Amino acid sequence: MARILIVEDNPANLKLAEFILNRAGHQTLAAGDGSEGIAVARRERPDLILMDVQMPGMDGLGATRLLKQDAATAAIPIIALTALVMKGDAERILAAGCDAYLAKPYSHAQLTAAVASLLRIGSAASAPPRDPSP
Ligand code: MN
Repeated sequence: MARILIVEDNPANLKLAEFILNRAGHQTLAAGDGSEGIAVARRERPDLILMDVQMPGMDGLGATRLLKQDAATAAIPIIALTALVMKGDAERILAAGCDAYLAKPYSHAQLTAAVASLLRIGSAASAPPRDPSP
């Protein structure tokens, strides 16, 4: 069981992610754009963040950069959710500081597996710094 913040501007996508994560036994928090996501992350210190990339206002990559620059939130793993994952997009997503990404539409199994994998890494004692190389 983990506390997971979902930053997503599309209500249907938010509900789907909440449904999947709640069924997997996780508690969810929600934010509707990048700025709100940063505010909730700072206040609630979730165990993991699901970050939609395409949002009006501050997008998911802008929010990720700020969260990863802030010592208070830098260690929170972030999974980017994006409709477009072409070669350059994946590089942009990882360069912004996201720890992983999932292409939409994703399956329930893909989301729960990605979350479980990052929660294991995040909870490891004295986790090493994130290595951006594959
Ligand atoms: Mn969106």
